[in-house]
Amino acid sequence: MRDELIARRSVLFGGALVAGATLAGAGFVGGVAFGRSVPAVPELRELREPVSAERAWAALSAGNRRWMAGRARHPHQDLSRRRYVATSQHPYAVVLSCIDSRVPPEVVFDVGVGDLLVVRTAAHTLDPLVLGAVEYGPQELGVPLVVVLGHQRCGAVTAAAHAIRDRVTLHGDLQRIVEALRGAYTPDVERMIAAHIHATVTKLRPLLPHVLGARYDLDSGRVSRLV
Ligand SMILES: [Zn+2]
Repeated sequence: MRDELIARRSVLFGGALVAGATLAGAGFVGGVAFGRSVPAVPELRELREPVSAERAWAALSAGNRRWMAGRARHPHQDLSRRRYVATSQHPYAVVLSCIDSRVPPEVVFDVGVGDLLVVRTAAHTLDPLVLGAVEYGPQELGVPLVVVLGHQRCGAVTAAAHAIRDRVTLHGDLQRIVEALRGAYTPDVERMIAAHIHATVTKLRPLLPHVLGARYDLDSGRVSRLV
């Protein structure tokens, strides 16, 4: 069933099918490799070289440190870059994040055009269409890493927590977001945010290699890996 889905998607998107074996990597999903401290990594300038999940995360972490410190370089945002990626793309990470205006992934990781596939929904909630968008990068483009990025003081999680606590139904399709977050409910919003990041990673890991969960701190600008 799974293979059929992947094959169908490959036809749908017209891209080369990337075999799961290519992406399997060595012992990464358990998170041991991510847990190590990694040396500073230079920007990933050459898009066409293969990039490991570990190196992709190291590059994102290095960019986040620049952002935190107020030393963003805004790489890959000039005319030459636009021309370089005009005919093909080789992004090295998928970021599934919240719609929140204060957490734009390209900014908080200090990257540019052609670096990330970004999928954004309220509190990074999933449904089948969103899942397809997340799977597109690893399955069709060979993207080595998926990052689930939640954040401090998430408005969607806060609204859902209050609706569940007060037993109220939100207007229209907003209630779908509440239902998607119900499983992570706890009265403490920050704990619910962390629980929802864990739950989202747990849903994605059986489907995709190299999925990690991280939390963005609005106060400091820091992205911290949670899982
Ligand atoms: Zn949010």
